[in-house]
Amino acid sequence: GVIWYDGKMVPWREATTHVLTHTLHYGMGVFEGVRAYKTDKGTAIFRLQEHTDRLFRSAHILGMKMPFDRATVAAAQKAAVRENNLESAYIRPMAFYGAEAMGISAKTLSTHLIVGAWKWGAYMGEDALKHGIRVKTSSFSRHHVNVTMCKAKANGNYMNSILAHQEAAIDGYDEALLLDVDGFVAEGSGENIFIVRNGKLITPDLTSALEGITRDTIVQLAGEIGLQVVEKRITRDEVYSADEAFFTGTAAEVTPIRELDNRSIGEGKRGPITEQLQTMYFDAVTGKSAK
Ligand code: PLP
Repeated sequence: GVIWYDGKMVPWREATTHVLTHTLHYGMGVFEGVRAYKTDKGTAIFRLQEHTDRLFRSAHILGMKMPFDRATVAAAQKAAVRENNLESAYIRPMAFYGAEAMGISAKTLSTHLIVGAWKWGAYMGEDALKHGIRVKTSSFSRHHVNVTMCKAKANGNYMNSILAHQEAAIDGYDEALLLDVDGFVAEGSGENIFIVRNGKLITPDLTSALEGITRDTIVQLAGEIGLQVVEKRITRDEVYSADEAFFTGTAAEVTPIRELDNRSIGEGKRGPITEQLQTMYFDAVTGKSAK
C-alpha cells in the first residue's frame, strides 16, 4: 500500500519519520478518523468535508499552521483510498511537527501531513454491533486540558483515553466511559454516548466531549423519525437506569452498550431504538438513504 505524505504517494514501509520528531516527544499534533463506504455509486467518503473542516479547526485551536489547504487535504483522502484500491476504508489524516529542533517551542518547526487508509471492519467486532458491549466507568476523567481542548482531535489529548481504555480492558470490559471533572458523563475513549430514557434520546452537551460527526448524524436521523433529542449533563445513575444506551463514532459507528459497571442497561441487549438508528446510520453511510 501507499501513504499520502506531504503531497506525494510513498510506499507504506517508507512512510517514516525521524526519532527526534517533535510530535513524538511532546504529543502535539492533530488527526482525524474518517471512513469510506462502498455505495451503489462506488466508494464514498462519509462527511469528508466535515472531517476536513474539523482537522483544520483542531489545528487552529492548537495554533498549528497547516501545510496544505482544505481542498488538498480532502483530495489527499480520496487519493489514499483510490491508490490503495480500497472499496471501504478507515482513513487517518494526521498533521505533526518535524524534527528540526528539540524543546517545547514549535515555532520554528515544519509541519507535515500524512493520510493513511486501510481496510478496517467493525471497531469492536461484528458481535459488538449486534449484541452490545460491556463498559466500565473510568477512574481517569476528562481533565482540564481535555475540557478546554476537547474540541480539538489532537494527539496529546489521547493520553487519558488510552489509560481509560487500558484500565477497562485489563478489568475485562470492552470500553471505558469517562466522566468530566465534575463527575458528569463525558464520552467514551473515542466515542460519544447516547442514552434512551422514557422515549427520549439524551446525550451529554459538548462541554467536555468531542463534537462528534457521528453524534451529529444520529441527532439528524433521530429528527427524521420524530425522536426527541435532549442535550444536557447526564449522570452515571441515569445511564444505569436508562432503557438503552449506545456509543457513536466514526470507528465505533453505532455500538450498543448492554452493561455499565456490571449493571445491565434496559434488557441487557441492543435496544429497539438503538437498532433502528443503527440501521438508519448504515443506510446513510452506504448511500441507501438521502443523507
Ligand atoms: N470522542 C472522542 C474522544 C473521539 O476520539 C471520537 C473519534 O472520532 C469521537 C468522540 C467520535 O467522533 P466522530 O463521530 O466524529 O468520529
